[in-house]
Formats: sequence, C-alpha cells, structure tokens
Amino acid sequence: MGQSQCTAFPLPQDHPRFTYAVMTAPLIDPFARAITYLRVSVTDRCDFRCVYCMSENMTFLPKKELLTLEELDRMCSTFVRLGVEKLRITGGEPLVRRDIMTFFRSMTRHLDSGALKELTLTTNGSQLERFADQLFDAGVRRVNISLDTLDDQKFADITRWGRLPQVIRGIDAAQKAGLRIKINAVALKGFNEAELPRITEWCAERDMDLTWIEVMPMGDIGNEDRLDQYWSLKDVRAEYENHYTVTDLAERSGGPARYVRLEETGQKIGFITPLTHNFCESCNRVRLTCTGELYMCLGQEDMADLRAPLRAHPTSEVPLEEAIRAAIEHKPKGHDFDYSRQTVDGRMSRHMSHTGG
Ligand code: SF4
Repeated sequence: MGQSQCTAFPLPQDHPRFTYAVMTAPLIDPFARAITYLRVSVTDRCDFRCVYCMSENMTFLPKKELLTLEELDRMCSTFVRLGVEKLRITGGEPLVRRDIMTFFRSMTRHLDSGALKELTLTTNGSQLERFADQLFDAGVRRVNISLDTLDDQKFADITRWGRLPQVIRGIDAAQKAGLRIKINAVALKGFNEAELPRITEWCAERDMDLTWIEVMPMGDIGNEDRLDQYWSLKDVRAEYENHYTVTDLAERSGGPARYVRLEETGQKIGFITPLTHNFCESCNRVRLTCTGELYMCLGQEDMADLRAPLRAHPTSEVPLEEAIRAAIEHKPKGHDFDYSRQTVDGRMSRHMSHTGG
C-alpha cells in the first residue's frame, strides 16, 4: 500500500490536515475493489505494425498531446501515493519512447521506498538487447514479451516490420540481465495453431512462462476480420489436452488470466480469455493512455481526462487526486464484449496501441 496512506484518519473536518487525510485514502471503487494496479501507455508508437493492432500507415499523435516524462512521473507517483502497488509500462512499444529509461529510473524511488511492489513492462522485445541491463538496474524484474510465432517468415508477416532474430537477441539479453520473462502469444486461428507444441517446448527449455491471449474486438484495422481469426482458448486448452496432462491451478492475479500446469514439463500456462469468461469481479486495475486518459475498464469507452487537471495545476497534485477519485467512482462492474452474435457488439473504436493492450 502507498507509503503516505493516511494513518491518522478520521480527522475532524475543521482540522488543517483534513483535506490531506481524505486525499490519501486508498482507491476503492463502488464495488469494493481496491485499485492497486495501473497500466500506463507511454507512447502510441511502435517499430512493428502487427496486423491485429495497427494499420500499415498509422498517423500518430502529435507530441504535445502526449504526457511528458515529467508528467508521467507526476501521474504515476500520484497513483502510487493512492495505493497503486504495481505499475506496468506499455505502449505502443514503450522502449521506442525517447529517453524512456529516465522515467524507469525515476520510478525506482518508489520501489526503494516500498510503496511500489513491482515495476514491469510489456514489450515486443525489439529493443531489449539495448535496454535489458538498464531495466534490471532500474528495478524491473519481470518482462512480458509479445511473440506469436517462432517462424521467421510468419513473424515478418504478422508484425509487418518486425524481424524474429532481433527479438530472440532481446530475449537472450533479458535473460542474461536476470529478467524473468513471460511470453504472451495471441491465439490466432489458422496462424499459430500448429505451433502450439513448439512454442510451449521452446518456453519450457528457456524457463519462460507462457500465456495465450484471445483476440479482442478492438479498433478498425483494415482488412483483418477479427471474427475469422478468433481461436477460442477453450479450443487452445483442448489442444493442450491432446499433447499433455493439464491440471487447473487456483491461482488468480486479479485480472483475466487463468492458469494450468502441464504435468509433463511442470510449466505454468496462462489463458487470457476476456471475451469468454468474466473476470470483472476481481478487477484491480485501471489503464492510463499516453495522453492522460484514464480508462476504468478495457471493455468500456468511459474514460476520464487526467491531463487537464495535471497541466492546469503544475504545483499541486490535489486536483489530480480529486479527478482520479471521481474517475474511480465510475469504474463499472463489468465489461460489454459480446462475440455471441456475428457482429461484434461492444466493439471498441480505439487501437490497442493507444491503451496499452
Ligand atoms: S501489437 Fe505490440 S508490437 Fe505489434 S504493433 Fe501493436 S504495439 Fe507494436
């Protein structure tokens, strides 16, 4: 819990510190869920153009729209003060943001104080060869790497601009630096179905965790038909059962992931099934975009602009804290995705790259 969480509360209302006491109470939403996990997108840009995420010719946001590194620090530090214990840095590709290591290093102080329990990131791996050691030095211990195939040509096809050997070198560097790695693979029908055993065994050999993610109905990304690509994780799991002895694990992370163990390899495999299972009752997270919009739920359009109070009050965090609290009051009970009809109801109009996946 955040270091400055109030211990003297309640104070009388005429007490000079009353406002401070209220402002530093932890973030609890209307459904009694404590908000302890913030995902922060630090850029909408990426050096890949994955077909399910971006179109080939993207128009990115002008620089002035983006939170500066200092603003990101103020924003994240405020959330940490309000009880956020886990920060996941995302993008786009977070490591293509100029000087992003300055931001990671600035977050180290919250790890050192004990207020922040984990600083982590989701990356495509392309820049890890360059940054793995610096990330470890900043206090990062675990990294999620998005990787959908181990076939060079398929990798180039699905990422358009990415090259697999560069990512493998990044993984090598990350493991050498001491970072624990989880591979996130998007389950895509007709694309990586046949690679399931190969990817699984490759992860086992390298002692990396593996999570499969269902495609989500987000964004208008050209010709890709999300319903055609949909490979149900129920079917992914059934595929595992064809190859391994699969045991369900009770472990929960407050998010959509469910886990099984493969008895033959001892591996833990995660399944993120935001569409087919309801995980909302234990949701502990909110998402901040690179422009300072706070999304309380991945499946809802409702958001709060936190950039305006941040920029309007450069020397006080009180208006920002008030805006965060007001936003959390609107965190919905659950999400709206629905694949049950042939049109995708609940479809989102923003790209995953903007909200950080
Ligand atoms: S999925 Fe990730 S790596 Fe691919 S284009 Fe989107 S942000 Fe970049």
